[in-house]
Order: sequence, then structure tokens, then C-alpha cells
Amino acid sequence: MASFYELAQLCETLSQTASRIQRVQLVAEFLSTLAPEEVEIAARFLAGQTLAQGENGRLKLSARAVWKAAAELAGETEPDQALLANAADFGEAIETLMRLRGAEAGPTLAVVDVARAFEAIAAIAGRAARQGKLAALRELMARAAPLEGKLLARIVIGEMRHGVGEGLLVEAIAQMAARPLAEVQRAFMLEGDVGRLARAARHGDLKLDAQAISPARPRPLRPMLAQPAADIAQAFALLDRPFALEHKLDGARVQIHRFGAEVKIFSRRLNEVTRSLPEIVTLVQESVKEDGVIMDGEVIALGADGRPRSFQDLMRRFGRVHDIQRLLREQPTALFLFDLIAWRGRLMVDAPYHTRWDALSALAQRAGLTLAQRIVAGSVKEAEAFFEDALTAGYEGVMAKALDSIYTPGARGGGWLKIKRAHTLDLVIVAADWGYGRRRGWLSNYHLAARGEKPDELLEVGKTFKGPSDEEFQTLTEQLLALKHDERGKTAFVRPELVVEVAYSDIQRSPRYPSGFALRFARIVRVREDKFAADADTVATIAQRFARQAAGVSPLGGI
Ligand code: AMP
Repeated sequence: MASFYELAQLCETLSQTASRIQRVQLVAEFLSTLAPEEVEIAARFLAGQTLAQGENGRLKLSARAVWKAAAELAGETEPDQALLANAADFGEAIETLMRLRGAEAGPTLAVVDVARAFEAIAAIAGRAARQGKLAALRELMARAAPLEGKLLARIVIGEMRHGVGEGLLVEAIAQMAARPLAEVQRAFMLEGDVGRLARAARHGDLKLDAQAISPARPRPLRPMLAQPAADIAQAFALLDRPFALEHKLDGARVQIHRFGAEVKIFSRRLNEVTRSLPEIVTLVQESVKEDGVIMDGEVIALGADGRPRSFQDLMRRFGRVHDIQRLLREQPTALFLFDLIAWRGRLMVDAPYHTRWDALSALAQRAGLTLAQRIVAGSVKEAEAFFEDALTAGYEGVMAKALDSIYTPGARGGGWLKIKRAHTLDLVIVAADWGYGRRRGWLSNYHLAARGEKPDELLEVGKTFKGPSDEEFQTLTEQLLALKHDERGKTAFVRPELVVEVAYSDIQRSPRYPSGFALRFARIVRVREDKFAADADTVATIAQRFARQAAGVSPLGGI
């Protein structure tokens, strides 16, 4: 049986290995030594996931809980914040804290033990769930050696720092199974869960044919993503084939599964949010008669006047399981569908968008459900008029979708473009300065970064203290402190996890920033809790916008 300690040692080695090829090899070799059920768990842990894709939300353990458990085991009532500030990162701080315990637990945990413990913690529900989960976590950590504690902490918070992204992991799985990379990538697109993928690869049983997959148990697929386009004209140029435009609704992505009598709803991050949206569950249960259906759509918050309300209003509903009945009355929602991912138990991902849309329209008509408003654009003029109407009606913009595009889960396939009027970028906060004067005591000047070309590369493009309210400064400070791994002078450096939407006036060339660009008059519009750093905008997008700006084309789409 594979020991958890060996996995922890592998992660240490990986973090010290600069060569990507070597990292792939190390992971592949490690996975090759494991039994099939261990391969599944180890791959998941290496991806920084405690449970299968979509189940992670059930664990409900925060970094704080891990910190508390480790402190209690070390006999400390008040966890020493200086220890956290001096450690390179959270995992290391936990390791140090666990060493304080003196008598070191020997490495006794097997990889499967840890998986079972996570499963048991996730299953704890009810009134005293919090206490129960904490106690179970403490029990698990009591059995862990410091190095194992470090890995446990990293997996729980999903921050591995071993240089193994999803792409590298998939490569290692291909190498382990001696299968062509393209084949394993295709299987991953259809499977979604890296653990099950690794296990299937080990068995030589990769599912490559979307038609052959009849989901026996609802599990979410990663949603298809869109690339930004500056305006309608650029959408025509980029797609260069017939496409449709849909209203871009400013709400939260939902993937709705109906299998048998059961309806389940998953968020963009694949967390199950069924219990937060009982009215949508009832709506689908009562209206959709077909079985084996997966629909893609957006839930938005509605004001008393029936107009769309802000994204923040909706976020109050997400992830909530208590007080739902009151929130239901206070914040009604509306569902807009825009894609059909599975129908009658068959995945539709390889069917072109126009076919999926036709099937979805027929289904929605039978069920009385609402679709996103849409036109098939004949001319630029017609498309621009649709875009203007969308903005006037209070929507965020439009999506342009090539009629022949397939559904590419988890990928910006190029078949979907998003066109917004607002001049904003989604950026990652990588550091923050302590404020002075009125903002004293808050981390309030945020260093913003866009994604570079290399995986995990983040390059700074500006700083801002504009946008947040006092209350939001307070919350951001708390969130950033939990992510802090270093502090120098007045600047706290944080794990790059918090994504914010940033408005700006224009883009300048900058010799100061490694990205080569700086945003002028940047202002935070909102925190994008639904996004990971991997979803942030890229320096390439900024370069493109800069080129358009330099060419005198208004970034606001010709207005
Ligand atoms: P963004 O969040 O700005 O990257 O834009 C992509 C998101 O827009 C998707 O993940 C959906 O949540 C949302 N969205 C709103 N309306 C649509 C639509 N008609 N088609 C696809 N995505 C949409």
C-alpha cells in the first residue's frame, strides 16, 4: 500500500525540480507503482483536490480549520501569527507548527486512509457538523508526520506549490499508461475528474467516444469557456463563419442535471449548489419530462421591478444552505438556458452548437423554460443593433457562438467569444500594501496581475486602491491575510487566488512591469468569487487591446 509519506516526499522533490519534462516523469513513475484505486486518489491529491471533482465543496474545511487543528495538537491555544508570516507559505507554516509537537508521529498513513478520512469529514452534516468536522480533521492530523501535515494542508486549501498543473498531470497519466497524449486529453475533457481519468488510463479503459457515455451517476462536466473579443467587428473577423449572438447575462453559471427523478445543480467551479437554488430544482423537476438531461445556463437575480440585479445580489444566494426560505422571498432568481450538454442520457458535446440549440429550444418549449435571447447575425449592422439592445436592457453584453462549434468542456475552444461594453479585465491579486490615513489597518492597495504565456505565470499590470467600499476593504483584508505567504516592508505577498474584475481608462506601455503594460486609472469593480486564477485575463488580451487603442480604434466597440 502506498504511503502518504511517499506522496509528500514526491511533492517535495517536484517543488525542487525545475525541468518540466522531469516533473512529468517523476509523477508518471510514482503513479506507475500504485494500485488502480491508489492511482485515482494520488492523482486527485496531486491536483490539490480532496474528493472527486464536484464533491470538493462538501468538505467545508477552511485554512483556518487546518491551522486551528495543528495549533491544538501542538498544545498552543493562540496560534502564533508570526509563524505564519515567516513561513514561505501556508503548508510550510503547518509543518513547522506540527514539529513543535515534539514527539513526531511516524509516517503511518496510507494514501487510501487519507481519502477515507476526507470522505468521512465530507459526510458529516447536521447541527454539530462544524465541530464534528474539526474533530475528525484533528484526529487525522494527529496521525500525520509534519511533512504529511504539510501535504494535508496543501490539499485541503488546494494550493500545492509543486509545479504540477492540470496539463502536466494529464501528460504524466498518458506517460504512465503509455497512451498518446491527445487521447488522454480527449478522455479528460469527457471525464472531468482527474482521479477517475488516471484509474481508467491504468485499466486501459479511456472513454473517448462522447456518444458511448451515458452518465450513470450525475457528475458535472467543466463548462465551456469564451475568449474575449473587443467588439462586434472583431467577432466577425475572429470567427469568420456563421454565428449566433446571445445576450450575456450577468449572473452565475449553472449546470443542471436531470437524471431519473433527481435534479442536481453545479456551479461554474463544479461545486454542487442544488440546495441553494430550490426554486430552480422545483422548476426543472416539474417541467422537464425527459430523462438524462444536462443543461447549461445562467441564473440571475431579479429586482422587484423584474429587471436583472447585480451579480453580488445573486452571490448572496450561492453556497447558502441555511435560511434559504427567507432568501427565496427576498432575492428571487430567474433561469436562462443557453446550451444542451446531454440529452436522453447521451452527451451532445460533439454535436454542433446549432444542433444543440435546436434540441434545447424544443425542450424549453415543451417545458416552458426560458432561453437566452438570440439572433443569427446576418450583418455587422444587425449584430451591432442586437448588442446595443442587450446593453440597453441591462445585460452585460453578448456572446458570439459559431454555429458549427462543438462544446469543449473546460476549454476556450475559440467557438465562443464574449463581447462586453464595459472596459474591464479579470485580474489576480498577487500582493497588497497596507494602507495609511483613512485606510490604515487595511490591505488596500492591490497589485494586479494578468496571466502570462507559461502555465501559472502571472505578470503585474498595475496597482489600485480604488473601487472597494470600507466594508469591502475589510473583507478583502481578511481574505488576503488568509492567503499571505510573505511580508516585506508595507507589502504583503499573497497566494494568487483572488480574482477581481478591474475597470480602467486605457492601457500604456510600461518598462516598469515585466508584462510590458500598465493599466491607467484601474478600479476594482467586484470580486469574482466564481473564478480561479486560471480564468483570469491574459497579457495577450491586454496587448491586443493596446494595439487597437494605438490604432485609434475605440476599445469601447467603435463608440
Ligand atoms: P466571463 O465570466 O466574463 O468570462 O464570461 C463568461 C460567462 O458568461 C460564462 O461562464 C457564463 O457564466 C456567462 N454567460 C452569460 N450569458 C451567457 C450565454 N448566453 N452563453 C454563455 N455564457 C454566458
